Amino acid sequence: MNQSEPVFRLENVTRRYGDLTALDSINFEAPRNEYLSLLGPSGSGKTCLLRIIAGFEKPDEGKVYFQGKDITSLPAHERGIGFVFQNFALFPHLSVFENIAFGFRNGTMNVDASEIDKRVGEAVEMVGLAGLEDRNPEQISGGQKQRVALARTLVMQPKLVLLDEPLGALDANLRGRMQTELRMIREQLDVTFLHVTGSETEALAMGDTVSVLDSGKIIQTGAPDEIYNDPSSSDVALFLNRFNLFEGKLEKGSFAGPFGEVAVKKVQPNDRDMYAIRYDRTKAYKKGQTVPGPALPAKFLASEYLGSSIIFLFETVDRKQVEIDHHLSFGDPDEYKVGEEYVLSWDPAQALVFGKEATQ
Ligand code: ADP
Ligand code: MG
Repeated sequence: MNQSEPVFRLENVTRRYGDLTALDSINFEAPRNEYLSLLGPSGSGKTCLLRIIAGFEKPDEGKVYFQGKDITSLPAHERGIGFVFQNFALFPHLSVFENIAFGFRNGTMNVDASEIDKRVGEAVEMVGLAGLEDRNPEQISGGQKQRVALARTLVMQPKLVLLDEPLGALDANLRGRMQTELRMIREQLDVTFLHVTGSETEALAMGDTVSVLDSGKIIQTGAPDEIYNDPSSSDVALFLNRFNLFEGKLEKGSFAGPFGEVAVKKVQPNDRDMYAIRYDRTKAYKKGQTVPGPALPAKFLASEYLGSSIIFLFETVDRKQVEIDHHLSFGDPDEYKVGEEYVLSWDPAQALVFGKEATQ
């Protein structure tokens, strides 16, 4: 296989269920040895996309390529693509060892017992399960079950592993640790991981590249910092959950929103006029203080301490909630009184503007 060739490629893949278009003419690919995150809200088509790559489902239109070959009509078990299911899908009556070795036991593969022992042993080491080989799934924790599910896939030495919300069932602490380990495992092998998630934090933390899926369409692909700093549409900004988004009207180089009228330079194409400012770039001022430009009156509602930052929640007169994310490394925040009115503002140069009449 050509090293520079994508490991997999979807070409105009469409999947419909009755009137619903779950995947809408998707073009999507990944290079070898990449950690790819696919971020999308629930129902956006993430699982459907993975099932089509794996071969559990056929596209209504389009083609699927794997290592340069058209595999659109190849059955799942002949594809050699790994799949880690959200609910782990372990065999309850088999030991950890036998769960991991299961792929060798179906008779179609001619691998001798010592080779199976060796490969299961390596997979067990890699995912940190040494010593637990003889236990049954009910005798191990959720995090360990996740490792068995991963080892069972890695033992087959696939070039592509699909992970369907693999950390969704784990608690926050464990999730952070597994994130690091998944990335480390990926780096040790000649394998591409395609990790789907509904969590923007997870997608940005894990991926070398992040793609955003919305209603069956890929609406942006880029490096995590690119997606984070420069979402291509107001929908991407919305999923990232780090922007205050305002509706308004864009006219003659000026955006009229609930914060007044602000001159804008760059406008990105969008289906409606929207203005976005990051939570950590939004600031609150006492009434009467000079603000940098936009002025949005809002009542202070509540704060939430997150360790490295504090979130302050405000509410505008039309009951829209606006968030401020104050990084504590920038010093102590001002104190706000619940129910009291402040003026929210920001440097207008740091806002993103999306509109029907784009400037580019
Ligand atoms: P996600 O994994 O992003 O939550 P899915 O890929 O599971 O979303 O589903 C995408 C859309 O396709 C959803 O609206 C879902 O209801 C629909 N869908 C998925 N599988 C089927 C099916 N077998 N029959 C009918 N509709 C389905
Ligand atoms: Mg799903």
